[in-house]
This record gives sequence, C-alpha cells and structure tokens, in this order.
Amino acid sequence: MASIKGSAEVVVIGGGVIGLTIARALALQGVRDVCLIERGSLGGEASFAAAGMLLPQVEADAQDEFFNLACQSRDLYPAFAAKLREETGIDVELDTTGTLYIALTEHDHEEIQKRYDWQTRAGLSVELLTATEARELEPCISDTTRGALRFPKDIQVENRRLLSALANSVKKLGVMIATQTSVHSVLIEGNRVRGVQTSRGPVSSSVAVVAAGTWSNFIETLPQSPIPAIEPVRGQMVCLEAKPQLTRHVIYSPRGYIVPRQDGRLLAGSTSEHAGFAKCVTAGGISTILRNALEISPAISDLPVVDTWAGLRPWSSDGLPVMGPCGEIDGLFCATGHYRNGILLAPLTGELISKAIVSSQR
Ligand SMILES: Cc1cc2nc3c(=O)[nH]c(=O)nc-3n(C[C@H](O)[C@H](O)[C@H](O)COP(=O)(O)OP(=O)(O)OC[C@H]3O[C@@H](n4cnc5c(N)ncnc54)[C@H](O)[C@@H]3O)c2cc1C
Repeated sequence: MASIKGSAEVVVIGGGVIGLTIARALALQGVRDVCLIERGSLGGEASFAAAGMLLPQVEADAQDEFFNLACQSRDLYPAFAAKLREETGIDVELDTTGTLYIALTEHDHEEIQKRYDWQTRAGLSVELLTATEARELEPCISDTTRGALRFPKDIQVENRRLLSALANSVKKLGVMIATQTSVHSVLIEGNRVRGVQTSRGPVSSSVAVVAAGTWSNFIETLPQSPIPAIEPVRGQMVCLEAKPQLTRHVIYSPRGYIVPRQDGRLLAGSTSEHAGFAKCVTAGGISTILRNALEISPAISDLPVVDTWAGLRPWSSDGLPVMGPCGEIDGLFCATGHYRNGILLAPLTGELISKAIVSSQR
C-alpha cells in the first residue's frame, strides 16, 4: 500500500458521522489542509447502524445542559440538510413529521403526564393525546395504548444517506481522505502534538482530533492517556419491509421504537448491551426488539424481516459526550462518547470542535 501524504494542518482520526462532520466544518471554515484517516471505509460503524432519530425531547426528564445542546443540534438539521443537498445533490431525507411517544401501561401513562407537565412549563413543543386521538393519527398502534405525547420537533434523518452526503461533501471540499488506514498513535513531544503514526507511515501535524468512536482508547497518546475511558454499548436492529408504510411518525415507547423510512423499510430497535467489542446480532437481541415492536404495533407481525445488524455505541462512564481540547496537550482534541446521540449531535459537534481548533491556531 502506498505511503500516506506526510503532513496536514489538522488530522481527524475516524470517519464516522463525527469525524466527517468535523472535517467538513474545518474545511468550510477555511482550514485548507485537513486529513481524515479511517481504519475501514467511511461511515461503516456505529453511524451506519443508527436509526437516525433526532429526539432530544422524547426521553428527557429535565432541562439540563445536555438537553439544551441536543435541542440546539436538532434545530441545526434543516439548514444542515439543505446545505448538504446544495453541495452534493444528496437528499438526506430529513423527515419532519414528528414523533409519537405512546404509553402502554399505567406506569407509562404516569410518566408521559410528568414529561408533558415539565416540558409545557418549559415552553417546549409537546402535545398530550388521548388514546383515541393517538390512534386517529397512527391507526397501527396497539389497542392497549392509554395515551401519547406528540413531539412535533423531534424528527428523523436517513443516517446512511447523511453519511454519503458528508463523504461526498468532504471530498468536494478538498479534504484528504485515507481509508483502510489505521492510526496507531498520536505523536506528542513535550506537551504538543507533532503528528500521528499510521499503518501507512507518519503524518506530521500540529493538531489531531480523536473521533474514533468506541475505539478511541486504542490510539496511543501518552503512557497515561488523557482520553477518558470509552466503552462499547452494542445496539441491535431489525429491519422490516412495510409497503405501503405502516406509520408516518417515528413511534417510541419506553421499551422500543419503530422508524419508517421513505423506501418502505421500517426499522425496529434496539438493545443496549455491555458485551465488549462483539458486533453480532443475537437471538435474544432480535427477540427483545420484536417483542417491544409488536407491543407498539401488533400490525407488524405479518411484515417480512429483511435485514438485521448491530453497531457499537461509544459510551463514557457518565453517558455524556467527550468534546474539546484534551489533557492540556497543545493541539489534541477529542470528539467521542456520543453514545445514543451521535447522529443528533453531529452538526453541533462539527461547529464546536472546528471553532475551538480554529481559535486555538490564532
Ligand atoms: C443500533 C443503534 C441505533 C442508534 N440510533 C441512533 C439514533 O437514532 N440517533 C442518534 O443520534 N444516534 C443513534 N445511535 C448512536 C450513533 O450511531 C453514535 O453515537 C454515532 O454513530 C457515533 O459516531 P462516531 O463517528 O463517534 O462513531 P463511529 O460511527 O463508530 O465512527 C468511528 C470511526 O472511527 C474509525 N476508527 C476507529 N479506530 C480508528 C483508528 N485507530 N484509526 C482510524 N480510524 C479509526 C472506525 O472505523 C469508525 O469508522 C445509534 C447507535 C446504534 C448502534
């Protein structure tokens, strides 16, 4: 394999949604020499496995800092999607129908009432529906539905099309992309980044961004790594075929969800398993997903299963993303640990990290 170009202004490690979005944002801000290094192919890991839901409100119990960031990122999506389409011609299928969160037990019903109360007090967009109103909106939901919340601003994007659009955009913007290339270590001298060592040779650079998802800790930095511990949390998914489509909204319950795609796929998810790096689909996983999807809508029982897959979400011990300058080392930045929200948080992560890098270089 040919050796890699020897130097770059910024090296981004990892070509998932986070690395791609950061590389694009850097190029858009005028950083001319960005190098994106991906071990496999672009967008082949967690970002590909995701369901593409952009749902900060659905599961939120309080208006904390994370909630505010998540809403901010969701609200960037319409402009983000339009700009990507303009740049690449790719429609990322941002579907703004909204999300229905249904209550199927008495306990679920109490929970949705509490969520409705705090979110209306906070002035957020949320509608409380009776079971009849919810079924009028989406006739496929279970007869046992006791009520529902509708979140008009919690929407979805086709994450695989998003990855294609981002990959296309960074190429057009002149980012140098090295796939099938692993970064082994970030080279640090004193307390400054000097470059990275890859499977195709060294790249010298004064800035390195670790965006390697759940594998971020495998990149050697210092004997005592400044990158907080990131662990894999496996998520499995079942893909059904529904032609005509069964639902217009994303339908969520406290135990599972179904996501309708424009092409007739209906995604059902997911699991959250601490099972190491084994990215496999299991009998138990599929059975749990289908049980929870059937609880939402018994109508799915006749649909063909057309695909299954699994992905590894990058999880930090507090469940929050790890973003920004890292370990007081000049030029070292981290953008990982996005756990269940990497697609949602991508546009904001791109903006925040690229701005932090550009301002650190002034
Ligand atoms: C089943 C499932 C459903 C999900 N649903 C949603 C959802 O609905 N909404 C949402 O917002 N989020 C969702 N997520 C979470 C989301 O997918 C992740 O948070 C997001 O993809 C993380 O992006 P990333 O770029 O950090 O990681 P990844 O996509 O995993 O990318 C990391 C990349 O780094 C590369 N890499 C690793 N090590 C190296 C190295 N040494 N050198 C070079 N490259 C390296 C990898 O090959 C990989 O391509 C879901 C996840 C799963 C698994």
